[in-house]
Amino acid sequence: MNVLQKINYEPAKVKAGYTDRILNIDLDNIDINITKLPSDFKDKYIGGRGYAIKLIWDGTTADTRHDSPENILVMAGGPLGNEPGFPGTGEFIVGAISPLTDTFIDSNVGGHFAPLLKLAGFDALSVSGISRKDVVILVDGDAKTISIAEAPEYDKEIGEGSILFGAELLKDVCAGKYNDSYAAVTAGNGACNSRFGIVNSLYYDRRRNRIRSKQAGRGGTGTVMRQKGLRAVIAVSSLPKANGNNAVNPKEVRKAGSALRKVLRQCDPEQLHLAAWGTTVLSEYMDKFHIFPINNYQYGQSPESSKLFSEIFLDRYFSKKVPDGCYFGCNLACAKGAEDVILTRGPQAGQKVSVDGPEYETVGAVSCMGIFDPHYVMEYNWYCDEYGLDSISTGVTVSFFMECVQRGFLSKDDIGYNLEFGNIDTADRLIHEIAVGEGFGKIAGQGVARGKKWVAEKYLSKNNVPVKDVTVELNKFGMEAKGLEFSMYITKESLAQQGGYAFALKGPQHDEAWLIFIDQVHKELPTFALKANALKWFPLIRTWFNAAGLCKLPWIDVRHPDAAKTKNPAKNSPTLDYYVQYLNATVGSKKSLQDIIDDSERLYILQKLINLRQGKGTRSSDRIPLRAMGPVYFNEFQARAEYYQNWLNEQCEEKIPEDPKEQHKLLMEKRMQAFEHLCDAVYKEKGFSSQGIPMPETVERCGLMDDKARKLLDEFNMFDN
Ligand code: SF4
Repeated sequence: MNVLQKINYEPAKVKAGYTDRILNIDLDNIDINITKLPSDFKDKYIGGRGYAIKLIWDGTTADTRHDSPENILVMAGGPLGNEPGFPGTGEFIVGAISPLTDTFIDSNVGGHFAPLLKLAGFDALSVSGISRKDVVILVDGDAKTISIAEAPEYDKEIGEGSILFGAELLKDVCAGKYNDSYAAVTAGNGACNSRFGIVNSLYYDRRRNRIRSKQAGRGGTGTVMRQKGLRAVIAVSSLPKANGNNAVNPKEVRKAGSALRKVLRQCDPEQLHLAAWGTTVLSEYMDKFHIFPINNYQYGQSPESSKLFSEIFLDRYFSKKVPDGCYFGCNLACAKGAEDVILTRGPQAGQKVSVDGPEYETVGAVSCMGIFDPHYVMEYNWYCDEYGLDSISTGVTVSFFMECVQRGFLSKDDIGYNLEFGNIDTADRLIHEIAVGEGFGKIAGQGVARGKKWVAEKYLSKNNVPVKDVTVELNKFGMEAKGLEFSMYITKESLAQQGGYAFALKGPQHDEAWLIFIDQVHKELPTFALKANALKWFPLIRTWFNAAGLCKLPWIDVRHPDAAKTKNPAKNSPTLDYYVQYLNATVGSKKSLQDIIDDSERLYILQKLINLRQGKGTRSSDRIPLRAMGPVYFNEFQARAEYYQNWLNEQCEEKIPEDPKEQHKLLMEKRMQAFEHLCDAVYKEKGFSSQGIPMPETVERCGLMDDKARKLLDEFNMFDN
């Protein structure tokens, strides 16, 4: 590799979970420097998402866009990442100003990268500027060097991919023999041609003896990475991983870790079976409760759904005997994978490949296109990962255009072929076109929000109707909010999850508030007050997980046997006690769960301020499509008529009309009213104005009121209220 810049450095030792160092790479000037953080930085911003939010708040402006040189790509684990003695500690976040939302996005991902970066001496990597040539960064804690080099050129097949490129690069760097002292992040060529490119996190899995991948999928962080001319980052350290955080009290860390591991071991087989089946297990639950997205979220259940249930993937694809943790010490081990899958479609047809996944979200993306072919799920999974495309945004965008055809907003001539629900050939064709930026893929690669504008203009150029009418229709079923495509849960019957998506600061991604299971399956949020409380509390605790460097699944997906005895079982607080114990034993603090929530609120409010600055922070930005609130078209109402009629009978004091079309109209009116009431209640709970803007006292309480915050709030007349 042609090295463009190289420095020698002395890796900082990890102490109590932190190195207190950030590695800064400036790609405008091909420059490397290291920031030593002041001692109070970690107290205020924790790590992970908190560090990314702070760096982006300070380093970007209202004018910064995804492709601006000053946009910052941040990769950061947290103080609790990198501990094999506790489950789920390989997580990190990738954050930036998003190509889809034009505001802060972060996406969390597992693997070995963040733990190795920390052992190599860094709590976070921050990349700014744009390189004229494609480059790779090598952070080698063993050699004590950091280099920026021209990206190597491999043959076309390998060179354009994300995973094949990364695997080849890792092989080069570790002299042909993979080992778990090396990990990489990469982005593929599909990320260059779309707004929803992903970052793949690559790590060596000894049990499968191959490079595996996990994805930071949401919001186009891979697109930002490639726009910067950055193809890959490699982190290297052979320091021991056991007690890698140099915890203040290692004995307590072990105690907390073994208590959590025991709960996972005993309870997961009686609950979701994630260790055995991976997250594909959710398909069956979602279908049973009318939450599984079918034909662009029109329907939540189908007689064909069982073709995509977990036992199919277990029987045909998953290697049953291999426990699949994405980091050492995770006995929930949900990161399923398959070997020797033969591709039947696309440019690699005939190749035998290994697939990491599918996760539930990828299965839902395929059913969203009306496709119920498990082998196609495997192929779609592989191609999305290899191209570097978000399987969620890709599936939702393709589904949106399919529905535009169904409802007559687009014709075969507009697209060039017959894009319709259930047609694997044309769906598959479009996915490859998105990846290479050709044909209709150039339009679809822009995502749903921009797709709506394109469809409206196209339709109006041929039909004489008012612009508003077309836009109103497209907004009903274009499943995005703040510019981000919805993840794979139908919210028509769950007001709590409608809020979970609407108020999510990054856009409708469930990792900020996954309330659908609690609300619609367990029915644990029956009142408005409980929903509003949950919509404040869950995003805050989830923000903390993303700041601390932790996977949330061991907490939220396996319920502690003692949770049932608590006031609010959905919070699973007996398990959270282990996390509090783990935190205090690692960093030497004496925090309570409420202290953690308060710390998290500071990050949440700072992220909200970024949204406000970027034009995505008020009540109007929290709007969700009518389809997310209820059965927006009559066909959807008819498919669940009995349920909706019962709901009307329970909720309405007035007489219910006989005519089903009138019932449908009334139902949608009630759903819209309920959503507006929810906004009012949740804003109050969060300390926001009725327009969804943080009140000055909320910002003050979180210790964030400085000149910059004051000026911003002043622009929204928040001091006049
Ligand atoms: S629960 Fe799954 S995603 Fe989370 S750390 Fe374990 S293997 Fe990785």
